[in-house]
Amino acid sequence: MLEVSGIHAGYGKIQVLKDVSLEVEEGTIVTILGANGAGKSTTMKSVSGLLKPSAGKISFLGEDVTGLRPDQLLRKGIALVPEGRQILAGMTVLENLEMGAYHRKDTEIDSDLNKMLERFPILKEREKQLGGTLSGGQQQMLAIARAIMSRPKLLLLDEPSMGLAPLVVADIFKIIKEINQSGTTVLLVEQNARQALKISDKGYVLETGKMVASGNATELLSDARIMEAYLGKK
Ligand code: ATP
Repeated sequence: MLEVSGIHAGYGKIQVLKDVSLEVEEGTIVTILGANGAGKSTTMKSVSGLLKPSAGKISFLGEDVTGLRPDQLLRKGIALVPEGRQILAGMTVLENLEMGAYHRKDTEIDSDLNKMLERFPILKEREKQLGGTLSGGQQQMLAIARAIMSRPKLLLLDEPSMGLAPLVVADIFKIIKEINQSGTTVLLVEQNARQALKISDKGYVLETGKMVASGNATELLSDARIMEAYLGKK
């Protein structure tokens, strides 16, 4: 579904990604692991169009989408939940959800909105509350729900568990699994390596801008060398 081939990307003169390749098959969950600063977010920004690769190619559903803008990629079915959630703090929960569907012209937006509120009862309870008044976990749910309102084929999640309490983290991973089971392909960036791999089909390990390992999630989980080197966290 998604094929990233040998991309180079960075910020001005700072080159971060060096020849990064990865593949996400339709229907799967794929996790990118790596230490702070390894280039995980830079990879997500490249796939979502926030950053243009200086070399290499990105294909989505067989089409070359290298260099397209985020709004163009959103229309093709790639939605990003950015690091730090970035919900609209001064808008209500409902307005945040509506923003997720801003580019849609079909007639099913209201019914999707209702489905989303059924699926996340805590958001329904707080639908008129401002986004900024929600807890971290609730904001993450809102950010994910808002992205789903765009009806993505591929959902990109950048560190969804960041800063959340362990019980909430478990909830978020459960939600990600459910979203995948209902037909959305997921590319995930996580520092919570073990938990991420447990719900994933495949994993990639980035180190200083290079892909240094990849494999089935179960293989990575049982690879003592990799777990020790990159995935120290329980
Ligand atoms: P983290 O978990 O800390 O977000 P990461 O693996 O997602 O780590 P990136 O955010 O992709 O890492 O950052 C990779 C490198 O790019 C780091 O050295 C970082 O300092 C640098 N970098 C990130 N954003 C910018 C920017 N806007 N301008 C310049 N350098 C940046």
